[in-house]
Amino acid sequence: MSVLAAEDFLSKEERQQVSAAIGAAEYRTSGEIRVHLEDHIEDEVMDHAAFIFEELGMHRTRDRNGVLIYLSVVDRKIAVISDAGINERVPDDFWNDVLALLKSHLAAGRRVEALTEAVQMVGEKLRDFFPLKRDDTDELSNEISFGGR
Ligand code: CA
Ligand code: CA
Repeated sequence: MSVLAAEDFLSKEERQQVSAAIGAAEYRTSGEIRVHLEDHIEDEVMDHAAFIFEELGMHRTRDRNGVLIYLSVVDRKIAVISDAGINERVPDDFWNDVLALLKSHLAAGRRVEALTEAVQMVGEKLRDFFPLKRDDTDELSNEISFGGR
């Protein structure tokens, strides 16, 4: 019996689609979006995702506008964590809508759509509050990160 591993959750092409979606979103906003996949966790998902957020250095963006989309693929546990600059502005309901989108796609097996559409949705919201600045840099990698092994 093989257990689904985070690395096998998406094909190489699908990973590239997700990175491209992050790049496209960040072309319109100074906000930084990351996607992190893990195999399995024991901890409570929000606590764990908050830990990963720190570990990835996501709290060090200039405008405190990083967003982490976190998924443990075995447990199907998801969380979306956003930094202080965003939390001041975006209502909690919005994050529930993002989670609902992720859940409905994942339940139907649409893995890449789940992630690309969640990235798109977050990107559009960030654009309202954090438009792209002339001196913008890519503060956090657009590549999916992996952990949990
Ligand atoms: Ca940026
Ligand atoms: Ca980035």
